[in-house]
Amino acid sequence: MRHVRVLVAFGLTAAALAAGPIAARQQRQGEPFSTAITKLKDGLYVIPGYDGAVTGGNVAVRVTSEGVIIVDDRFPPSSAEIAGKVKSVTPQPIKYVLSTHNHGDHTGGHPEFIKTAEIIAHRNARENMVRGKQAAPPRIVFSDQASVFLGGVEVEARHLGRGHTNGDSVIYFRDLRAVHTGDLVVWGRRTDGSLLTPFMDYGNGGSLSEWIGTLDKVLQLDFDSAIPGHGPVLSKDEVRSFRQKLVTLRQRGADLITSGVGRNDFMAKLRTDDLNWPFPKERIEPLYDELASKR
Ligand SMILES: [Zn+2]
Repeated sequence: MRHVRVLVAFGLTAAALAAGPIAARQQRQGEPFSTAITKLKDGLYVIPGYDGAVTGGNVAVRVTSEGVIIVDDRFPPSSAEIAGKVKSVTPQPIKYVLSTHNHGDHTGGHPEFIKTAEIIAHRNARENMVRGKQAAPPRIVFSDQASVFLGGVEVEARHLGRGHTNGDSVIYFRDLRAVHTGDLVVWGRRTDGSLLTPFMDYGNGGSLSEWIGTLDKVLQLDFDSAIPGHGPVLSKDEVRSFRQKLVTLRQRGADLITSGVGRNDFMAKLRTDDLNWPFPKERIEPLYDELASKR
């Protein structure tokens, strides 16, 4: 019995070592897939989201004395759930929804919330919603940045460049040194246990090459807590490591193309296992196209 246990323990250790430090950081140990509203800082809560299929994305909840600002609103049936969870921490009404990008797992609550709140997004995010025939695109848009001033608090929405889409916004809670990055950063596992990978949504203007520069601008902001589009709240160093993985991915892809690897062999030759990003085929071929066109 004891012998068996020793072997099991050794097996786990060996596997952890083989996976390397990046893999070890992917999911914090014991991270539960709870969607209970969680206090991050005084006045700032998170309704956790892990995937694009079951929970939708992370919702940030900024409570002020004159109302609530939320960031993103998950799937179509989520608006009542979000409203209920907000009500459990404050009697203040939801007055603004800052929307990080157009995807349905971040904008599904719009049709309900737009009845009583103002939804604000980047101009391109609205255009993507309209083109995609998504319900309730925002009535207010901006090009570079916008702020909501409520109850003595300023919450900033910043468009810092292309990345996941061409309409990504980072929501900056400057007074609390926190950001919501939308899907410019994703981290860890979906509720079905599969690993999240960054998604260059080329159909909505995404770009791996520009994503890295966009994250550089995010990292210039003063914050110690980052709410990613999906996954646990991260440190600034973890956002840095996510950016570094994107750099590695781009460099490997560019090196393969320079060495003459064609579109058909690209996926088999592009190493991503040590990044812990198991990309599906349909996401790798457009990446080849982007990197090949940059040569
Ligand atoms: Zn997305």
